This record gives sequence, structure tokens and C-alpha cells, in this order.
Amino acid sequence: MTFPPTAPPRVRIAPSPSGYLHVGTGRTAIFNYLFARHFGGKFLIRIEDTDVERSDPAMVEPILNALKWLGLEWDEDIVYQSSRLETYKKFANKLLESGHGYRCFCSPAQLGAEREAAMASKQAPRYNRRCLKLTKDEIDAKLKAGEQFAIRIQIPPGETSYDDMVAGVITRQNDDIEDLVVARSDSSPTYNLAVVVDDHEMGITHVIRGNDHISNTFKQIQIYRALGFDVPRFGHVPLILRPDKKKVSKRLGDKDVAEYRNEGIIPEAMFNFLCLLGWSPKSDQEIFTITELIKIFDPTHFNSSNAVFDEEKLVSFNKSHLQLKTDEELASLITPLFVEAGLISQASLQSQLPYIKTVAGLLKERVRRLTDFLSLGSYFFKFDCRYDPEAEAKQFSTASAELLSAFAEKLEALPLFDHASIEQALTSLAEERGVKKAAFIHPTRLAVSGISVGPSLYDMIAVLGKPIVVERLKKTVDYIASKA
Ligand code: GLU
Repeated sequence: MTFPPTAPPRVRIAPSPSGYLHVGTGRTAIFNYLFARHFGGKFLIRIEDTDVERSDPAMVEPILNALKWLGLEWDEDIVYQSSRLETYKKFANKLLESGHGYRCFCSPAQLGAEREAAMASKQAPRYNRRCLKLTKDEIDAKLKAGEQFAIRIQIPPGETSYDDMVAGVITRQNDDIEDLVVARSDSSPTYNLAVVVDDHEMGITHVIRGNDHISNTFKQIQIYRALGFDVPRFGHVPLILRPDKKKVSKRLGDKDVAEYRNEGIIPEAMFNFLCLLGWSPKSDQEIFTITELIKIFDPTHFNSSNAVFDEEKLVSFNKSHLQLKTDEELASLITPLFVEAGLISQASLQSQLPYIKTVAGLLKERVRRLTDFLSLGSYFFKFDCRYDPEAEAKQFSTASAELLSAFAEKLEALPLFDHASIEQALTSLAEERGVKKAAFIHPTRLAVSGISVGPSLYDMIAVLGKPIVVERLKKTVDYIASKA
């Protein structure tokens, strides 16, 4: 298969269920998904769960949920490596039979000691091919004695080159690739054998993954060749770094994709943001919908330098994507948050929907995270007359209480309770009293919302409605009096 693909490509994401879906794996999944969808191919999932000690079956579902949340719908059935052990065994034996593989009877202790000695003398640890030199009789004797053996692949002399979609042509001397173990003494496959066998059997044409896999690629190419398989096209994308330039990692406290969801990041923003870490649209535009990204995705636009994960930037992408949503879409996104926070009851949900939609539209310009709808808008649903203490110290006084009381009276008398009439009422009252409009605006905002930031005061008051606003103003007047 050449590149660009001449036939619909088949790509995959192959997470190991040793933890939740990490942002790095999420991004690799996005690149593969875009590649498949752009070229009309298939995007597959393989769960790499052969490492019993490191894999946790309970992690599979959260990983799949996070992929779904990102919008990465996959094709075909998921392949689980743990159900394919017999297949790997078959191919490991094939390597043995064809002479590309050989039995290695060395004990882990012996290999460990040799490895340590090599490191102590500052040499790259590499298997010394002791078992390759065994005669047929020696091998037979060991087998007869029931000695355990692993299977290694014999790397031929020469060099190995491949044309990486991201890094271009890369070459390694075969001397630098050791005769790696493909099957352990308990006949379980090593990672490199399982990946090659699966990618072949799944018909994978392009492998896009992190550049920490480049050294595995040379080993895998040797296995492909030894098994007589076509080698897929590889592309190794740069790693994601933290702002301190360390590799993003769970150990350093970096979050998994689901945590961002809980923090009010929406999937479209995460998708867009991760996509631009290591790939470029080659234009100044930064905000794209998933559909747009599928359309413009060009695999020759991967960057070769590492990308930095800047959380502030993710949040600003989130703000932009929230603004692309209709009020209706926002309402359905925030409703569960409000219900969970006890601000809306399940019973009143249906009847409150138009109101929730209006509130969503009103706050849309100000929110950066979905969760901001809660912190900036809970007073639209419930208000316990608690005021931001700093703002209270500034805005509430006997003088402002008097203004609030007058404003409440004026509002109460309004026949029409819309933006224009409320503004008109406030303006004329300020004129009558010979004060600036701000003398009404700030204390009123605090009195009806408890906070000092928010949408246009007139819109906010109109949406809250006359009875609520008047009641809150009067309560504030009483509250100020009680403190005087
Ligand atoms: N399971 C491997 C990982 O999580 C994937 C390797 C691959 O894509 O070939 O890094």
C-alpha cells in the first residue's frame, strides 16, 4: 500500500488497558480516525491486553467510553489480543519452522546478568546469540530434558530502512537490532509479534502512532519480512509534552480524557485541540468542527517537533466551541449538570426547558467551561440570598438599600417587563435621584444574583421575571437593614 492510499485504508488504535484513556492515546486515535474518514477507509480498535500483570479488564470500558465521547465511532468488531493467543503461537512456530526464528534456552537470570555487565561497561545490552550456535543434537538434548525455551527471531545482516509518513526515510543498522524474543517460554507472544500478526490479519495498511514506537518499528519490519507479510506504511507523530517539556504522563499527575470532561471541556474542543498537537492545517484558522477536520485532514501536515499541551489553550478552544453551539444544544448539555446540582428537579425538567434555553443563550458569551454555567448561572434557578463578600462590602450600604427599594417599587409597577422597559425604568430613576446609573446597576446585580459578573443586567432581570426580582431586591433591603 502506497501513500497517499490508492485504496481505502485500514487503520487502528491499539490501547493497552493499563489505565484510562490518556490524552496521548486520544490524540493518536484522532489522527487515525481522521485518516480513515478522510480517505474513506476503516478505523478499528484493538485492545492490547496480553500483559496480564499490567492489564486491567475493568479499564476497557472507560477507554471505549472516552473514545466514544471524543466522537471516535469505530468500524467492525473490537479485536482483543487476549483471545488470540493460539494465533500468535502458530506464527511464532512458523518463524521457527522457516528458520527465521530459533529456540533460546537461556535463563532469565543468565540474561539479566549479561545485560547488567553490558551496561556496566557502557555497551548496549544485546543478546549474544549463544543459542543460535547450538547444534541440532544439543537442541534435541535440551528438549528431551524438558528445558524451557523462548523463541527469538534472527535479525539478518545489513540495514533496515523505511519511509516514515512524518519523519521521512529512517535507517538503522541491523547490528543495532537484537535478536528479539517473539514468544516467551510459556508461549505467550511479546508485544512486537502480537502487533505484527494482528496488523497483518486485520489488514492494517497504515500505522500512525507515537514516535516512542520508532525503535519497535525496525523490529516489527523484521518480523513482517520473516513471516512474508506486506509491511504497512508507518507514521510516527511527535510526543505531547507538558509545559515543563516533560513527556505527558500519568505518573506526573497528568489527566486522562475523562477528567477533562468532568471539568467542563466539551468533546469537540478536545478533539480540535488534540488534533492541532502535532498536526497543522497550514493556515491561521484554529477552530474547526470535526466535519471540517475530516475534510481538510492531510497526513503530509504532521509536525516533526514535539507538541506542548497548554491547558489554557484547551480552555480557550472550549470557549470558542461553546459559542458555536445553538442555545438548544447548550441547554441539553447543561441540563444534566443543573439536575445533578439539585437546581432543577427531574419533574420540572420538561416545563423548564424553554427557560434553560434562554439562560444558556444569555450566559453563552461568558463561559469557558460547561461547568461555568453552574457557577455563573445557578441564581437563575435557586438563590439563597448569599452575596459575594467582597462585592457586598463595596455595593451594599444604607444609601444603596434605599435605591434598591425605590427600584423595586418602580419595577413592580411596570406593565411590561422586558429589556427596554427595565432599562427605561432604571434610567429615569437615576435621573430623578441625580445619581449615575451605575449606582443602581451594581447593587442590583449583586442583590438578584449574589455575584458581580454576568450578562446584561436588563436581560438578566427580564429573564428572571418580575416577582423574583422584586422579591430578591426587597430581601436585600432587609438584609442590609439587619446588618446596619
Ligand atoms: N499498545 C500500544 C501502546 O499503547 C500501541 C502500539 C501500536 O500502536 O502499535 O502504546
